[in-house]
Amino acid sequence: MNETLIFMGPPGAGKGTQAVKLCENRKLKQLSTGDMLRDHVRRGTELGVQAKQIMDAGKLVSDEVIIGMVRAELESMEEVRVLFDGFPRTTAQAEALDQLLQDFNAPLAGVVLLEVDEEVVTQRLLKRAELEGRSDDNEQTIRNRLKVYNEQTAPLIGYYEGTGKLKKVDGMGEVADVEARIQGILG
Ligand code: AMP
Repeated sequence: MNETLIFMGPPGAGKGTQAVKLCENRKLKQLSTGDMLRDHVRRGTELGVQAKQIMDAGKLVSDEVIIGMVRAELESMEEVRVLFDGFPRTTAQAEALDQLLQDFNAPLAGVVLLEVDEEVVTQRLLKRAELEGRSDDNEQTIRNRLKVYNEQTAPLIGYYEGTGKLKKVDGMGEVADVEARIQGILG
């Protein structure tokens, strides 16, 4: 049966980590637009070359490109059981996703918002920069990504609150504790 979930929260909130766990439990496929873009960058595709500059600046790749990528991915699936991680990030993407979910007859089970302290998030990202060497994890880019999140993505909290699907989860503390909170709220 089709089912979708959205993971929201600022960069560094732990969306990726928690998404992996939830996908195992609910048999969902994690669809991270950031991972898809990094894959393009690695493969040196035309899209990858364009996206890299934007990503390294901490800005957003165009809605058109992102929505096209997500649509193509959904089209390739027999059953749409997806956890969206890092998508949607703008109102235009959220509206496009509403339409896609209708087209693919895939209901939205919930939108999980991981709430964290911004200073803690910044420290987490700086640590990840050391460990993974992601080129978009330097301090300037991190600050920019948080700014972009607050300006362009945070308004989606209100958007999804209006649908009654938003589930706020305290994202602070141990990974296992956050996982338990998410399980508890989703049932
Ligand atoms: P993430 O791994 O989700 O933090 O994404 C890394 C970078 O990829 C972001 O800072 C953006 O430049 C780009 N990106 C990922 N997902 C999106 C999206 N849904 N819309 C626009 N840009 C995105």
